[in-house]
Parts: sequence; structure tokens; C-alpha cells
Amino acid sequence: MTGAAGAPPRVPADLAGAWEAAARVQDPELPMLTLADLGVLRGVARDEDGTLVVSLTPTYSGCPAMAEMRASTVRALREAGYGEARVRTVLDPPWTTDWITEKGRAALAEHQIVPPGPAPRHRSGPVPLSLSPTRHRAQVRCPRCGAGDTEELSRFSATSCRALHRCRSCAEPFEHFKEI
Ligand SMILES: [Zn+2]
Repeated sequence: MTGAAGAPPRVPADLAGAWEAAARVQDPELPMLTLADLGVLRGVARDEDGTLVVSLTPTYSGCPAMAEMRASTVRALREAGYGEARVRTVLDPPWTTDWITEKGRAALAEHQIVPPGPAPRHRSGPVPLSLSPTRHRAQVRCPRCGAGDTEELSRFSATSCRALHRCRSCAEPFEHFKEI
């Protein structure tokens, strides 16, 4: 999270308000997180013709939420008085779960979703949707009772970024935001 790629981008002082408007946009799949919490919001700048350009990095290639994130961002800026903004998709460097902020991790935990651990090392380029189930498996602690004796029931939960787990100690199911 302290790496250059994941560091919060610098925003020109006159665009701080635009950044804040874009930063408040919620993730359509995880509404407890904003695009800033997720690390998806990468920058706000002006074009030569004065159009506001917002840079977003999708959480992974083919993420179905991306179209909605773009539309919500454009709408948020229009409502904040910035006119018709343009969204630029930035694929390099690729997003990793390490970009999720501390605030975002706390919000996930509050909603009984175990935040991701350190991301595995990445190849260059966007992360494919078909994540190998065995490539990276950290121990996931139960968010309710804290027990370490948990099992993965399904690699994909309500959204493809989350896996469904069950605690063998308290028997409660819970979700884990997978590391990518
Ligand atoms: Zn438990």
C-alpha cells in the first residue's frame, strides 16, 4: 500500500473538489466501499479542452461493475457541478487488493467480510477473471469468533471477488475478499 503504484495519486489543488466528488462514489457490488476506498480512483485531471478526466483502474479485467462505476462517477461529477466528465480506464499498473485503503478494510470487516491479506505477486497486465483456486490460499480467520479453523465452501460468493467460507468452530458462514 505504500508502493508507488498503490500510493494515492496527486490531485491538482483546483480539482480537490472534483476528486472528493468522485471519491464518494460507492462500489456497486460492495456499497460499504467507495471507489477511493477500493483504490480504483486513480486521478482527476483536465483535458486540453477543459473536460474533466477521471482515471479509474478496474478491480480486474471483465469486472461487470466497471460500467456502473463509470456511469456513477460521471453522474457524481455532473451533480457536483463539473459538467460532463470523461472516464479514462487505466490498466497499467494493474489493480491489486493491496490498494484497498485501511478505511476500506475496516468497512469490510464491519460487514463481516474478511479483508484481503497481502496480494500475491503479479504478472504484468490486467488480472484475468478466472483466478486459479489453488494458486494462493492464506488462512482466513472467522470474523465472528476469531477461530482459525475455517473452510472455503465456494471460491465465488455474491460477487466474484468474494469467496464463501464457513467457520468450523461456530459453524457460521462468512465471506472473504480474495487477494488478487
Ligand atoms: Zn467462528
